[in-house]
Amino acid sequence: MADEWLLENMSQPRAAALLAKGRAILVTGSVEQHGGHLPLGTDFHAASTIATRVAARIEAPVLRVSPVGVAPYHLPWQGSLTLRPRTLIDLMLDVSGGLAAAGVRTLLVVNWHEGNTPTIRLAADEIQRAHPVRVIVAETHIITNGMFPDEMEFTHAGAMETAAVLAHDESLVTMSEMLDGDPVELGTDGHALFRRRDVFPVMTDFREVAGSGWYGSPGSVSADRAREIIDAVADHVTAAFEEVASALAERVAVIGGPA
Ligand SMILES: [Zn+2]
Repeated sequence: MADEWLLENMSQPRAAALLAKGRAILVTGSVEQHGGHLPLGTDFHAASTIATRVAARIEAPVLRVSPVGVAPYHLPWQGSLTLRPRTLIDLMLDVSGGLAAAGVRTLLVVNWHEGNTPTIRLAADEIQRAHPVRVIVAETHIITNGMFPDEMEFTHAGAMETAAVLAHDESLVTMSEMLDGDPVELGTDGHALFRRRDVFPVMTDFREVAGSGWYGSPGSVSADRAREIIDAVADHVTAAFEEVASALAERVAVIGGPA
């Protein structure tokens, strides 16, 4: 069924009325290899399914900026695609202009793909300079792992990403086509190097993390449990978004800065 919260599925009057309330959601994606058992668009589907659940809770339209994100290090696997950071920034900046003109003042970016994060921050900076819009970012892969650390391992194409795709559309998970992955410890150690916060390299090729392209334990979660988890993540995003937005408004009122 078509999702009623996607902007492109709304009639213009309904969209205008919702946007005039001042809030909208942008989804960023990625089209990149996730072994034989998960689709290329795993990160896009994950962010989309969480975003539309949040949309129903806060009654804000969702615009999926692009299924493709910034993932140059997956290009050795055919079918993986990347945008240049400038392209994603320009897409986000251009659509934000239209949303701002319709009355949006707070933009929630729902992201699942780690490789988009630096670009989203730059895009937010440009959006906030160009339009009277405040950008708030939800890193949903970090939220999912943080809420369910034992079940939702922070791997690539493992339990956490499988759960997100199961919650979106079970038919996209093809466990029978699973290829051999790398040992979890090897992948985790490799990823940890790029996730250091003090001194860190920038990834050029995902084989620096896992030669096979993936690692993790994808078989450990049922579709029912996956939907429960993703609903809980949507609840968390909603609550944290409201909390951050109101805390920010209070601080702005105190310092007398721009609204
Ligand atoms: Zn992924």
